[in-house]
Amino acid sequence: MNPVAIVTGASGGIGRETAKLLAQRGYAICINYLSNSESAFALVDELQAIGVNAIAVQADVSSEEGVKRLFSEADNRLGNITALVNNAGIMLPQSAVSSMDAERINAMFQANVTSAFLCCREAVHRMAQSRGGNGGAIVNVSSAAVKTGSPNEYVDYAATKAALDTLTMGLAKEVGREGIRVNAVRPGPIDTDMHAAGGEPDRVARVADNIPLGRGGSTLEVAEMIAWLLSDNASYSTGSLFDVAGGM
Ligand code: NAP
Repeated sequence: MNPVAIVTGASGGIGRETAKLLAQRGYAICINYLSNSESAFALVDELQAIGVNAIAVQADVSSEEGVKRLFSEADNRLGNITALVNNAGIMLPQSAVSSMDAERINAMFQANVTSAFLCCREAVHRMAQSRGGNGGAIVNVSSAAVKTGSPNEYVDYAATKAALDTLTMGLAKEVGREGIRVNAVRPGPIDTDMHAAGGEPDRVARVADNIPLGRGGSTLEVAEMIAWLLSDNASYSTGSLFDVAGGM
């Protein structure tokens, strides 16, 4: 039986690269997306052409309904999931905390935190050995922003990622004896569409000088860490936070 992975937010950026890499490593893949169906189905076609069992499922993972439908489609079309990558996330236009309203803050936490909690819940229901599952691995995509706090840009975003780090550490302890490992990756600046959503498409080039390695990272460099954490090569790592941030 092939391992089966759900990657949330896999229509672009880090999620898309991760789905591709996992497919190359033998996983059947569920590509979740919110709005970019063209990119999601182009990836399905690309993967199916090389013999990968790949599906795309539109679902808003910040909603109960979306998450339940995503997992049940994966159950029905791919079988038992063995891996989950909580990658879906948003960034909102750069702002100081003094200008943030409740609507923005709630939207940020619902998209970046509630989504990961709900997906973890559904994954644990399926993977836990006490429920008849075969164990599995979860990777939460956090951010190096946890450590800087991202002042005057997006402290709200950084705080959602700190919540994911805590989810990672707490859940890992809850489910370690269920055969489930839970880890987080914390990427530094990676050149994806996310920075345009923050209002500064060229942000990675601007901050490159402050990164010890002198450059932004690639989506593949992040995907490689995620794939390693999901693999048996990482069998003794759980509850850990792995920086992929060029030394930041
Ligand atoms: P991206 O290119 O903007 O991709 C974000 C993905 O998330 C898209 O596929 C988008 O789907 C999906 N998405 C957003 N909200 C969703 C929802 N409610 N339900 C389902 N899918 C949803 O961003 P990225 O840079 O690859 O970011 C991926 C992850 O890495 C995020 O969690 C981000 O916080 C984290 N990260 C990024 C960086 C960086 O510098 N880029 C650094 C650290 C951490 P559609 O396009 O289909 O709408």
